[in-house]
Amino acid sequence: MKITILGKYGPYPKSGGATTSYLVEEQGKKFLLDAGTGSLSRIQMICSLEEIDAVFLTHLHSDHCSDLFILRYALKKKKLPLFLPRTPEAEYRLLDACSCFDTTVLSDGMEIQMPDAEVKVSFCRTIHPVECYAAKFENGSRSFVFSGDSRYSEKLTAFCEGTDVLLCDSGFLSSQKDTGSLPHMYVKEAAETARKANVGKLLLTHINPIYEEEALLCEARERFENTQIVEEMKQYFI
Ligand SMILES: [Zn+2]
Repeated sequence: MKITILGKYGPYPKSGGATTSYLVEEQGKKFLLDAGTGSLSRIQMICSLEEIDAVFLTHLHSDHCSDLFILRYALKKKKLPLFLPRTPEAEYRLLDACSCFDTTVLSDGMEIQMPDAEVKVSFCRTIHPVECYAAKFENGSRSFVFSGDSRYSEKLTAFCEGTDVLLCDSGFLSSQKDTGSLPHMYVKEAAETARKANVGKLLLTHINPIYEEEALLCEARERFENTQIVEEMKQYFI
């Protein structure tokens, strides 16, 4: 499988950057995993928008789905399969009402076998202020998990067990004061998830522009050495 990082920032992009979005390619099929701001511009550097075979949205926060509201203006000829949470209601209804999308509601533990590609996608509910799911892509021999947005979760750690690559929400440095309601993991928790789940490689994503990337990397590598911060438009082979 191949992942291209279309956008790595959250909750807003750096100048010239984009928020969360990844293009997953396997056996000629193209799957869009989240569609944050800037992602539609980026994906057209790789393929046409009509070539997307399915879209998966981990949750309906704007930094993960805003460009899908734009994609509806561009799609002309097909009903694009769209997998998404049922809430928040307002965002869901807007997307479900679009004639260009064929929507399927996600649920905890759901597994989807993609037609014409040996790819199974499964979902695990995370801890976030809105309904959110981590997604695991498997092709029979290799796998990766994208955490979506989440606080630290033993359930998510179990979901990641033994995966080759964990693409993980790394929202905060430990210097950030915990108010008890942070919606993301500390970088050290992302690394702890990778260590406990025995993953092959940790890729830090959902990078907050306020942080120096070197500081994020240092905090992660104290707990999990094989860590990188993703680079936008770089391809990662799983
Ligand atoms: Zn979120």
